[in-house]
Amino acid sequence: MGTYAITGSASGMGAAAVARLRADGHTVLTVDIKDADVVADLSTADGRADAAAQVLAACAGRLDGAVLAAGLGPSEGADRLRLIGAVNYLGVVDLLTRWRPALAVAQNAKVVVVGSNSTTTTPAVPNRAVRALLAGDVDRALRAVRLYGPGKPAMMYAASKIAVTRWARRTAVLPEWAGAGIRLNVLAPGAVMTPLLQEQLDNKRQARFVEKFPVPVGGYGEPDLLARWMCFLLSDAADFVCGSVIFVDGGTDALFRGDDWPRPVPVRRIGRYVRRFLGRS
Ligand code: NAD
Repeated sequence: MGTYAITGSASGMGAAAVARLRADGHTVLTVDIKDADVVADLSTADGRADAAAQVLAACAGRLDGAVLAAGLGPSEGADRLRLIGAVNYLGVVDLLTRWRPALAVAQNAKVVVVGSNSTTTTPAVPNRAVRALLAGDVDRALRAVRLYGPGKPAMMYAASKIAVTRWARRTAVLPEWAGAGIRLNVLAPGAVMTPLLQEQLDNKRQARFVEKFPVPVGGYGEPDLLARWMCFLLSDAADFVCGSVIFVDGGTDALFRGDDWPRPVPVRRIGRYVRRFLGRS
């Protein structure tokens, strides 16, 4: 039996993952802004540092895995844009950076970052916002989306998920991660019926958009369905999965991008990747 840390554990997909892991007999350390073993606000630097330290103390320096599910959806509200950037990006990157040594101790740890299919289905996301988040600068990302009017929350949300997905893919392959036995992957859900989605459906303007969003298989996902994929990615079945993005979205990504992927690596980039892999750049 293993010891797992789950953020966003109080609700939705995170809560469903906690229930499954506990039912299987694992020890789960829950992290959330409410109703958790570790109550912390992941939108603040102090909250993230405190959450990371409390989990490390509780697991005695060894983690078999983690699910980073805490997040805010693209709804409107005071300070919402900043919270989206801080929780969805820094709330993943800061914790995982601090937990990496404990994950390495387990030797075959698995990590699931919850991304989103908004990464590939939201048009015209400003790259400047993505780059700002990857640099850890939420204020600069806010400036990059400021001209998008009522589309600002959707832009900030997609930018936060693109940034965290890119961070995960860049990080997963590094010697300190892949080479330390850690398998870091991204689960990209489509619309899943949780309080986060309900918040959007409760807003007339957003509901129109969500309800019209094309889902080839129809309907919404259920949190437990996604939790099953999280548990799969935490299992030995993921030993050879590294830096992958798994879309569980009823087919929307395939519908929007059927011909975009797979795409061969451009010749001019091969040297860069090989040098990076060999540690010479
Ligand atoms: P949810 O609202 O049910 O759960 C999110 C959890 O994050 C809540 O328990 C909440 O308290 C916690 N949280 C929010 N702000 C926090 C903070 N500052 N500090 C600590 N915890 C905080 O939503 P969900 O749908 O289960 O979302 C889980 C993840 O899935 C999120 O990252 C979300 O972006 C992503 N996602 C959701 C959908 C969807 O349709 N539901 C689609 C794609 C991706």
